[in-house]
Amino acid sequence: MLLKERTESDELLIMRYLNRRMKLDEKEKFRYMNLEKGYEGEVKFDELLENLQEERFVINDLLLELNNSYFQIDTLIISQGIIHLIDIKNFEGDCYLESDKLFSVKTGWEYKNPINQLKRSETLFSQLLKKLKYTYLIKSSVVFINPEFTLYQASMDQPIILPSQVNRFIKELNNTPSKLNYSDKELAQKLISLHQPKNPFHRLPNFSYEQLQKGVYCNHCFSFLMLIKNHSFVCKNCGNHEKIKKVILRHTKEYQLLFPDRKITTNNIFEWCNVELNQSTVYRVLKENYTAFGKKKNTYYE
Ligand SMILES: [Zn+2]
Repeated sequence: MLLKERTESDELLIMRYLNRRMKLDEKEKFRYMNLEKGYEGEVKFDELLENLQEERFVINDLLLELNNSYFQIDTLIISQGIIHLIDIKNFEGDCYLESDKLFSVKTGWEYKNPINQLKRSETLFSQLLKKLKYTYLIKSSVVFINPEFTLYQASMDQPIILPSQVNRFIKELNNTPSKLNYSDKELAQKLISLHQPKNPFHRLPNFSYEQLQKGVYCNHCFSFLMLIKNHSFVCKNCGNHEKIKKVILRHTKEYQLLFPDRKITTNNIFEWCNVELNQSTVYRVLKENYTAFGKKKNTYYE
């Protein structure tokens, strides 16, 4: 049973928006692509877990904190008496391990060793369980999900699931009977309540409102070439249709996430969308979907 769904992190969403509206430098672009790739891998793993059998709780994307140390768990599975902590990596190509370090064969670049990160998370998680007075066996694994990935020089006792082992890993999990009780549920709820919504490790490029390209873009091909026809926007690039109301709401959400300190007003959203819309259309959409505060010219929405 899925108790906490996975969604894109604010960091990934913001990077996506920025990538469409400004020129990221090479480092930023690299980081952005890695975030996209990481998320893609996690979603792929979620799909495999859809066939999970027996009674289990699945909690995705947990960010926990213990004594000022933060640790993240991509997927946490509670089964009878055992908790799996899973870190998902969508690395591609050939890598090798050498004295505790992970390198790419092709570029020689060093990656953060996911096994060390996993061990740290496991230690902190055990302490947290102890503090909450629960006893479970903890098993943690790094799952390399990408079929194009190979790892050299990994010893057999490492907590690694290679692409060729992922299906077997799930099969073995399914072959273990599991019945959950009230205390399991209580722990799951407790963990979800401890989730930290604000990730202190998010790194974003510097950007300002002025610097970003204004306008509405297609949600299919991301082209800014949008025309209004009847009650829809039509993309000149790919022909995709989207209702005006939906486009305004989508861009208002984007504005909100990019500029949490700026107020949502008819004028601001009108300027942000920078398209031949009637101001009254923007006004109507905001009024219908948000709560208005203030009066007349000073009205803003939340
Ligand atoms: Zn398009």
